[in-house]
Order: sequence, then structure tokens, then C-alpha cells
Amino acid sequence: MQQLSIIIPCYNEEDTIQLFLQETKKIEADMMSELTFDYLFINDGSKDQTLNILRHVSQIYPNVHYLSFSRNFGKEAALLAGLEEAKGDLVTVMDVDLQDPPELLPLMYAKILEGYDVVGTRRADRKGEPIVRSALSKLFYKLINLVSDTEMVDGVRDFRLMTRQVVDSILELGEVNRFSKGIFSWVGYDVIYLPFDNHERVAGKTSWNFWGLLKYSLDGFINFSEMPLTIATWTGTISFVVSLLAIFFIIVRKLLFDDPVSGWASTVSVILFIGGIQLFCLGIIGKYLSKIFLETKKRPVYIVKEKA
Ligand code: UDP
Ligand code: MG
Repeated sequence: MQQLSIIIPCYNEEDTIQLFLQETKKIEADMMSELTFDYLFINDGSKDQTLNILRHVSQIYPNVHYLSFSRNFGKEAALLAGLEEAKGDLVTVMDVDLQDPPELLPLMYAKILEGYDVVGTRRADRKGEPIVRSALSKLFYKLINLVSDTEMVDGVRDFRLMTRQVVDSILELGEVNRFSKGIFSWVGYDVIYLPFDNHERVAGKTSWNFWGLLKYSLDGFINFSEMPLTIATWTGTISFVVSLLAIFFIIVRKLLFDDPVSGWASTVSVILFIGGIQLFCLGIIGKYLSKIFLETKKRPVYIVKEKA
């Protein structure tokens, strides 16, 4: 019988872990004849009782295991740890707050049997989400798909069922800076997305805030596109050509009309404009450079302190 590994990143989730297990255990019972389940919780440096609860549930259920990080490394790191540790023939990633409905698992498995390598899930709407946040998310997907060759579908969750072969391909990408939304899509394979209605968190609260999301989307751009560098090059080139034309114009005017000195205000604004573009471009280059710096240090993505 095939084994399904379920990877569940947890950061301050003391309220949700047991609710999560209650729900997934029902599905596990339904699918007993086809699949054996193996739960792998990743405690991402939680500051509440998450670890104690994980110790407890792993003693109750023989198929519940956990890794506990030495500090908070972020969901991306937790995902990687889970993928590296998971032994299953099939692997899935789920949020512990039940925003990824476990009821979808049988449908997803059916699609795998049909021959798909990856069955992803997509929120059909953004019900219950702050308007500003969904507007910004929409804008992010529009822009990133414009500039990146790797397609990223709006509303796609990390919740996906993958075959062993796909997981092995994902693990071959050795980058330290991991933008999973991009990586999952980059590896390719036959993918199908199942839409579902947005669910609100059962308990606890989201660990995302505005700045966190902004930083996350910038990471998406820097990691999966060279477009910002191209934009920098082009703005530089265009302002160079424009300034050549301006110099030519000034020389001609001087020869024909012998203008007295005037227009210092326009001169200063042009200097400020060019200076601004230069700093902007330097900033973009600096962003890429800092990513390269982090990659070359080859630091581990996470540190495991406890395992069971
Ligand atoms: N998470 C994590 N490390 C972090 C932040 C979040 O492992 O630093 C986990 C969290 O416990 C949850 C999942 O990632 O299982 C998604 O987080 P959350 O529900 O806060 O995000 P949202 O659903 O609001 O996008
Ligand atoms: Mg959530």
C-alpha cells in the first residue's frame, strides 16, 4: 500500500493542532483501504505550547512525528525540512489552521490515480480577507506573471499532493533563498488545480502582516525574475540618450542666440531626477547582490533541535 506523508508547518499553533488532527483522522479512516498516513509536524520555533502538544500527540498516535527547529526559520524553511524528511510515496503540505480542507484529499488522490503528478489547490475566492490585502495580492500576481517566465497562478495554496518523483525534483534545487510558490511551479510536471471556497482559520491568528507580505512578494520578484535589472538598464539608457539630446539643444541655442545664464531651477531638478534613478538602480542591484551573498555563505536553511 502507498504511504502518504503530510507535512504541517506550525508556528504558535497550540490552539489548532488537535483540531487539525481530529479532522484529518476522519479522512485517514475513510482512505484506510488505499493509503497509510504519516504526519510530520514541523515546529518552527514556536513560543507557545506547540512543542509540548506535539510531544503529546506523537505519543498517542504512532504515525504522528515532528521536527522542532532551534528558532523560527519561517514557513519556507519548515516546508523544506518536511520535504527532506518525508518518506512517503506521496507527499502533501498542509496548513495546520484547517484553511487547507482535508476533505479535498480523496479528490486529490483520485487525480493522482488518473495520472497527474501534482494536484494543487486554488482558492476560488478571497472571501473573509481584508480588501486591501486581496487587492495587493491580485496586483502581485499580475506583475510577477508579467515579468517572470515561471507561471504563478493567483490563489494557489501551498496545499498540494505530489508524487515522490516531483518531491525529489524539488529537493534538487539547492537554493538557500526558497520561494516555494515559484519552485513548485518551476519544476513543471503534469499539474491540475482544484478550486475550493476560502475557509477562515479555525483558531489562533495569522502570522502574516503587511510588511511580511510585502517582503515576501519582493522575494518573489528577485528570486524568479531578472526584470528589475532590465528595467534599471533601460531607464539608465533612456536618460543617457535624453541628456545627449539636451546637450545638443543647449549648444545650438548658445551658438544661435547667445543666451545669458538662466534656468538653474530646471538644472537642479534634472540633477535630482538623475540622482534618484541612479540610487533606485543601485538599490535593485544591491538586492540581487545580497541574495547572492546569502547563497554563497551556504548556511543551512534550518537547524533541528528535537525530533520524534
Ligand atoms: N508558519 C510557519 N512559520 C512561520 C509562519 C507560519 O511554520 O514563520 C505556518 C503556520 O503555523 C501555518 C502556515 O505556516 O500552519 C500558514 O500560516 P498562516 O495561517 O499564518 O498564513 P495564512 O494562512 O494567513 O496565509
Ligand atoms: Mg492560514
